[in-house]
Amino acid sequence: MEKPVYKRVVLKISGEALAGDKGFGIDSDILNSIAEQISEVHKLGVQVAIVVGGGNIWRGRNSKHMDRATADYMGMLATVINALALQDALENKGLDTRVQTAIEMKEIAEPYIRRKAIRHLEKGRAVIFAAGTGNPFFSTDTTAALRAAEIEAEVILLAKKVDGVYDSDPALNSSAQKFESIDYIDVINKGLGVMDSTATSLCMDNSIPIIVFGISTPGNIKRVILGENIGTVVRGS
Ligand code: UDP
Repeated sequence: MEKPVYKRVVLKISGEALAGDKGFGIDSDILNSIAEQISEVHKLGVQVAIVVGGGNIWRGRNSKHMDRATADYMGMLATVINALALQDALENKGLDTRVQTAIEMKEIAEPYIRRKAIRHLEKGRAVIFAAGTGNPFFSTDTTAALRAAEIEAEVILLAKKVDGVYDSDPALNSSAQKFESIDYIDVINKGLGVMDSTATSLCMDNSIPIIVFGISTPGNIKRVILGENIGTVVRGS
């Protein structure tokens, strides 16, 4: 019998991961593969809360002349589009799901209520957190750190296009070295692009480990949940 090493996790899926090679929008094959991978770990009895990004549709910091807060609200709305797509894909796999948004839009999803989210997880529902933290100038990585602390998740699974944390960008440097594990403070001090510093500090202050791994290989979420050393673990020393 396969035994998961975690009971409750926050899975962060970046918008980039949803776009696949197209770089924009939602690739339906990838969406389906991610939903399949989530359903595999759900069957092991793991409580899965998901934070989705929005970078495949809109990123506030990339808007040139627009008011930054407005651009960030647009980014938060982009995460809601991804959340609904993911909800649909998960329900096609037979999972019970709830989307909770940090900005109220109660015609399409529940508002974020911490105790309710925990209750859903206990009842075996996958909970998708959308609209980030609800505040401009933050990221969905920070949302993952915040929600993980709030719902007392044991770990953040940071699903990326890249398969771990490298000392330089592996897309640009073919001799980039992958870390098996790295301290939070080194991620911050070396300015490694794995997570923004706000998110990394929040995890550091609350001792929440982060596992960075590649989502494009089917079965990887389950491998991480079963304790296989793929990707990079970010934690304190
Ligand atoms: N965003 C925000 N506050 C939050 C979370 C997200 O303002 O708490 C906005 C921000 O503009 C960000 C966009 O939503 O660029 C999409 O989120 P993110 O860039 O984190 O997505 P990812 O890179 O994971 O696809």
